[in-house]
Amino acid sequence: MLITNKLNLPKPFVSAVEREYEYKDKQYSVTTILKDVRETLLTRRHNDEIEQDVADMIWLIFGTAVHSVLENSKEENTEFKEEHFAEEVFDGYKLSGQADLFNAETKTVTDYKTCSAWKVVYDDWEDYRKQLLMYAWAFRKMGFEVEKGQIVAVIKDHSKTKAKVDNTYPQYPVYTKQFDFSIKDFEEIEKFILEKFKEIKKYENTEDTELPICSEEARWNDGDKYAVKKKGNKRALRVYDTLQEAEEHLKQDENLELEIRKGEDRKCLEYCSCCKFCNYYQENYGGKVE
Ligand code: SF4
Repeated sequence: MLITNKLNLPKPFVSAVEREYEYKDKQYSVTTILKDVRETLLTRRHNDEIEQDVADMIWLIFGTAVHSVLENSKEENTEFKEEHFAEEVFDGYKLSGQADLFNAETKTVTDYKTCSAWKVVYDDWEDYRKQLLMYAWAFRKMGFEVEKGQIVAVIKDHSKTKAKVDNTYPQYPVYTKQFDFSIKDFEEIEKFILEKFKEIKKYENTEDTELPICSEEARWNDGDKYAVKKKGNKRALRVYDTLQEAEEHLKQDENLELEIRKGEDRKCLEYCSCCKFCNYYQENYGGKVE
């Protein structure tokens, strides 16, 4: 990855993000396989050409700083911290990762995260749950018993004022989320991992432009919306998620009209580091290969 420093920040900021990630053949990490195959493969193929500015990586530095402080503690006898693994999935392909803490006595795998308050407010943990479950799956393969997962999240944008007036808002700037893992959860995650690796194998030698487009969900696109308006008006009377619902409404009055509002790919536009090498991005948002 090529690191730029448009704000001319002091050298330690640059050094903090200048880590060389070495991709290993047939080895993919837990966080990588959570992405769709197009993003996974484009990021790996174009790693040396992808450009990122230090100023856009500040939250990454913040997350790393939180991890470094917590890593320095001495673990208990029944705990392992930062245990790196690379477990075989199939045909020589390996899943790699590193859980922050594993407690063999409580059979719990823990990961530290930094997140926004919205994650807690909306109880939106599926991505982190899946990540923990993959760590748990790997620990089980190594012969440990694992029954639970835990996220300890430091909330970056916590507001004490909001916490005082809203009891649905996280009351402290740190939040723990616990998960119990069942046998069914482990079966499902094993199926997910296997399918992901089969997909990677299938497309590893496919040209960039022929890779399957990331799903709407992976592009953080909430889908098109259908606005019903009085003819000539800008404001919608009502906005629907489906065309069918909007068409039902239109039947009520011939002075109504439909406006289709295209869903935006928020991930492609703001958060995908390989977007310049993605023809979907170029075709839809005018990106160009540099
Ligand atoms: S730009 Fe969008 S479609 Fe292309 S790889 Fe990134 S997330 Fe996927």
